Amino acid sequence: MENRVYNFSAGPAALPLPALKEAQENLLSLPGVGISVLEISHRSQTFTEIIEEAEANLRSLLKAPDNYKVLFLHGGASLQFSMVPMNLLRGSGKTADYVLTGSWGKKAIKEAKKEGAVNVAWDGAAEKYNRVPEQSELKLTPGAAYVHITPNETIEGVEFPAEPETGDVPLVADMSSNILSKPVDVTKYGIIYAGAQKNAGPAGVAIVILRDDLLDRVPSDLHSLLDYKVMAEGKSLYNTPPAFAVYFVMLVTRWLKNEIGGLEKMAKINRDKARILYDAIDQSGGFYRGHAQPGSRSNMNVAWRLATEDLEKEFIAEGKKRGLFELKGHRSVGGIRASIYNAMPMEGIEALRKFMEEFKASH
Ligand code: PMP
Repeated sequence: MENRVYNFSAGPAALPLPALKEAQENLLSLPGVGISVLEISHRSQTFTEIIEEAEANLRSLLKAPDNYKVLFLHGGASLQFSMVPMNLLRGSGKTADYVLTGSWGKKAIKEAKKEGAVNVAWDGAAEKYNRVPEQSELKLTPGAAYVHITPNETIEGVEFPAEPETGDVPLVADMSSNILSKPVDVTKYGIIYAGAQKNAGPAGVAIVILRDDLLDRVPSDLHSLLDYKVMAEGKSLYNTPPAFAVYFVMLVTRWLKNEIGGLEKMAKINRDKARILYDAIDQSGGFYRGHAQPGSRSNMNVAWRLATEDLEKEFIAEGKKRGLFELKGHRSVGGIRASIYNAMPMEGIEALRKFMEEFKASH
């Protein structure tokens, strides 16, 4: 493991070792170029090939049709909390529906309210965000500007097993913490966006996949960098893009295609990994208590509690001694959280499972 620990961080998170190694090997000079990717012009032929491969890999992995734009934008997923309503809600006279399944959805709503009318179509607060809603529970607005969901809530560890039906209303999804973890039917979405720093690459770039007819709705007076139309027309090169982050997305998506063999295979690995941890929780006789209800359990972020906060602290400290890092739950909810994105190897999961059993036996 080259002195590397098992890193269960929620993000920035573990990245595939082959991608890290390739970036390391080529950091001083891209092969045959003599210039580092950190030094090269974003208008050069070399960088054009990098950003085009990153886009092509994303398109092929996600089977995104030609009427979708793939953009690489600044500002992380959080800027998309603002750009989505700026571009699709501002001045439309419509309402935007938000399905609220956890902490990140709440942040998205906060920004949307600055741009127009927001309807919370479902709110899981009363149940401490431990599940996603059934279709029948959604109070959707007919003719809404869009419906926003967070397919995987990173903090609470709840994931939609399938996307809700929204008819003709565009579905907008913050896939920051589960993009590329499984196949998705892109045609069901108006916009998919994700900060890269969990499953797709390092921090610094947000991936936005957008159905091109939505560009007709963009108000004409937006600042250029906040305007999907400007960014799409400029092919993400209106200004200097986060070039290293785009390069790394290219490496990660290449790894997914060539070494993993695509998203079906990745999804199976992810299901198997998550099942091991949920089984350890379920078979612990109540020693470990999972946060998410079984039908809403995330395959990316597994969150659970122990009987007391002291016991949780001990679990985290003991885990660290065994090379199991970043198991502390988010400061807002406490407890334990193991983030097990694509790059977390099965050995890391096995090591955590073994530790969970031993910790339970000794307490
Ligand atoms: N949405 C989700 C689901 C997230 O997990 C995160 C980051 N943890 C964000 C949004 C915010 O992303 P960023 O820091 O890139 O703005």
